[in-house]
Amino acid sequence: MSAIATRSVQSMGCATAPSDAKPGQREVFCGLTGIIWLHRKIQDAFFLVVGSRTCAHLIQSAAGVMIFAEPRFGTAIIGERDLAGLADANEELDKVVTKLLARRPDIRTLFLVGSCPSEVIKLDLAKAAQRLAQRFAPAVRVLNYSGSGIETTFTEGEDACLASLVPEMATPPQGAEKSLLVLGALADVVEDQFRRLFAELGIAKVDFLPPRRSADLPQVGPNTRFLLAQPFQTISARALEERGAVRLRAPLPFGVEGTTAWLGAAAVEWGVDPERFREVVAAPRKRAESALQRYRERLSGKRIFFFPDSQLEIPLARFLHRELGAELVEVGTPYLNRKLMAEELELLPPGTPVVEQQDVERQLDRARAADPDLVVCGLGLANPLEAEGIATKWAIELVFSPIHGYEQAGDLAELFARPLERRARLEV
Ligand code: SF4
Repeated sequence: MSAIATRSVQSMGCATAPSDAKPGQREVFCGLTGIIWLHRKIQDAFFLVVGSRTCAHLIQSAAGVMIFAEPRFGTAIIGERDLAGLADANEELDKVVTKLLARRPDIRTLFLVGSCPSEVIKLDLAKAAQRLAQRFAPAVRVLNYSGSGIETTFTEGEDACLASLVPEMATPPQGAEKSLLVLGALADVVEDQFRRLFAELGIAKVDFLPPRRSADLPQVGPNTRFLLAQPFQTISARALEERGAVRLRAPLPFGVEGTTAWLGAAAVEWGVDPERFREVVAAPRKRAESALQRYRERLSGKRIFFFPDSQLEIPLARFLHRELGAELVEVGTPYLNRKLMAEELELLPPGTPVVEQQDVERQLDRARAADPDLVVCGLGLANPLEAEGIATKWAIELVFSPIHGYEQAGDLAELFARPLERRARLEV
């Protein structure tokens, strides 16, 4: 079974090829965006953005309005008086938090989320979180991280959020059994599927970070092995490693190949019999293969261009090329963590242009010149490109949709096939 995880690593790929870093003007959401999926995932947490009306509008319009439930995110607006240094921002923040927690006794973890304005006025949210944590412990855990556009882009917000949880994770007692930790927010339905598969493989102790409830924050120590569920967990992975946890090297669980190798890495670590592994994955793997069959015809040979957005670009490009036969014109990514992406890079066809960071104007020129069948990009670029007759896929949909694992492989392929079909219908 180790062959499942490592075979391709020796034979092909562009892991050692230099990526082309093109710093310049960017077109990416800030890290506040992560609140949209994180507030749904951690059900007793509240995300209090300390920011401006712009920040409030961003998350409000992206997350929609919760009509039937109390919202689990909000913004403490930094007003002109705060910006001018006329008000004590710490005092104001304490008042907002006290009022919020009195009204919402269901909150167990409160994240103070930094923004561009809170950074500009140099509001020390780490100190504020410490002060408020002392005041509201043990009922409420108060943490902080930055989601500002100065420090973070898009999915880095989740990474920063999860890294803030790591110091809160208890250390297991010496001699505790080996445990598996899955790092990265997954849709609940996907988490349940993976739990079932791990249980069938005989891997008993499995935790997920983030947990659904604050009380279920897992332990971490030298007996912890962890798998990345998302490619953008740079600082949270490092924080886990600093606690002694060991990362299992594997591609991301996208598509049949990625999911099999990902599960396979855990199975090898737990010494699962290869025959047992094949038995456990056989049925879902077959379902995924037949789901992908339908899309192979539609995506095979299609030329795809990725603009940098979510950091999912490299694993998704690998999936599109290897399982659906798509051609990769350019794979842009906001940041390239070669260590975490090593297994993915090995699986890209040699010579794939991987472009780190972005100079959006030059990248647009390259995209137009290449005239691809599909461009995967952020919302801001999609409309102009569509108007020019280029089919686009909104990268943000790939972050919001359940796309991991065998059962979602067909849905993932469909997300790319749909805009091509729409464009084909428009051209008829
Ligand atoms: Fe804009 Fe910065 Fe607020 Fe993000 S954090 S919405 S980039 S002001």
